[in-house]
Amino acid sequence: MSIQMEEMGPLKLYFIHFLAAGHMIPLCDIATLFASRGHNVTIITTPSNAQVLRKSIPSHPLLRLHAVHFPSQEAGLPDGIENISSVEDAENLAKMFHATAMLQPPIEEFVEQHPPDCIVADFLFPWVDELANKLCIPRLAFNGFSLFTICAVGSPHEYEYDNDSLHIPTLPHPITINATPPKELTEFLHTMLQTELKSHGLIVNSFLELDGEEYIGYYEKSTGHKAWHLGPASLIGRSAQEKAERGQKSVVSVEECLTWLDSKRVESVVYICFGSLCHFPDKQLQEIACGIEASGHEFIWVVPEKKGKENERQEEKEKWLPKGFEEKEKGMIIRGWAPQLLILNHHAVGAFLTHCGWNSTVEAVTAGIPMLTWPVHGEQFYNEKLITQVRGIGVEVGAAEWTSIGFGERHKLVTRDSIQNAITRLMDAGDEATQIRRRAKEFAQKARKAVKEGGSSHNNLTALIHDLKRLRDAKLL
Ligand code: UDP
Repeated sequence: MSIQMEEMGPLKLYFIHFLAAGHMIPLCDIATLFASRGHNVTIITTPSNAQVLRKSIPSHPLLRLHAVHFPSQEAGLPDGIENISSVEDAENLAKMFHATAMLQPPIEEFVEQHPPDCIVADFLFPWVDELANKLCIPRLAFNGFSLFTICAVGSPHEYEYDNDSLHIPTLPHPITINATPPKELTEFLHTMLQTELKSHGLIVNSFLELDGEEYIGYYEKSTGHKAWHLGPASLIGRSAQEKAERGQKSVVSVEECLTWLDSKRVESVVYICFGSLCHFPDKQLQEIACGIEASGHEFIWVVPEKKGKENERQEEKEKWLPKGFEEKEKGMIIRGWAPQLLILNHHAVGAFLTHCGWNSTVEAVTAGIPMLTWPVHGEQFYNEKLITQVRGIGVEVGAAEWTSIGFGERHKLVTRDSIQNAITRLMDAGDEATQIRRRAKEFAQKARKAVKEGGSSHNNLTALIHDLKRLRDAKLL
């Protein structure tokens, strides 16, 4: 076959997602983008995650799933728990990490037996680098952060600490965060980013206009590495049912949820959700309930389901819920997984009280919904600054405690007054709120334009595919 013909041939790509909703959802969405451009894509997953993916990503003849055995028994986990988002305590979290580490040999075996042209893997699998080197194929890294945050996380030597705050003066927008990251988190993320730099490039679930040329320039200059903005991943075409099952099956009927929203005024409802990994203590939940109530606004509030003891009554499990709270019919509490994409894109939603997980952030931006920011752990405190200070599309609630993981006790509660004030600031249309809302809507238009033909993310995907083909074809010479 001539080289020219070979250049026309589709690529064979493997995607290896980490076993947490916030990592799996965007990477698998991005995998479908490659399939929709005519390339052969295999997502390497585990049996119960495969079940979720089958129902939530659009089927495509070039997209297949390969499930490797998940060692639940070996790690001491209940059957079917194959995702960190289903874990409720630190003990099972440690077991999940242990089980995930055990996936390396079966994945390596599969990849070595059927080598692809390129592997796209989550940054929490640094061992993929060696595998790719062994097979002489490029590895692309995916970490699910914004490039703004990668720039912030990647410069710990520039950090200036002052009592309980962190200042990073060297970014294109100098930022100050009113909390300090756990030391082990800073070290861990920095090490992971260093490994990421060994990859052929970085895939980002964002779009150029949101991170901004200045951060692309900063990243490339400070690392010499290439980042490809391919998002927002949530904009891939899919049915309402697939949207409802994205990440997990929704615990509420989509119809019930949308009918409730249909009965509300435009931009009148506050949507509250802290992603897939945050479990607040009862005292904090109580503050949230009282804060929303005092604001007087209607709401949808997603609270992770609490299993409780056998035969324990609902009121016992939910002592934090003020008496009569739900009977006032001001809002809907969703206990468990919510159809977030459908909710955010409903015209009745006027603000999103969010933990600033990057997926939630991009989803809100894409829907044009301004945010009430309440970061909790991981890289969320950096994302908050991009939302509020840099892009001006949100209001800070006042979170000041940066934890290592999403559960456990908190020392600094966010008070009901802070919650009420932030909601009022954004929902009771003053000048500031109007400007924030206007900017949020402008970013939504930019997000949609980015993924259309000729848009920045669309063009980046074309260029990336071209680059990968060039590498593959050069090997064949
Ligand atoms: N999500 C959802 N329903 C829920 C909770 C979360 O659909 O009830 C989705 C949300 O749309 C996002 C992902 O789960 O795509 C959470 O990712 P994010 O980065 O926001 O936060 P994480 O869970 O990683 O902290």
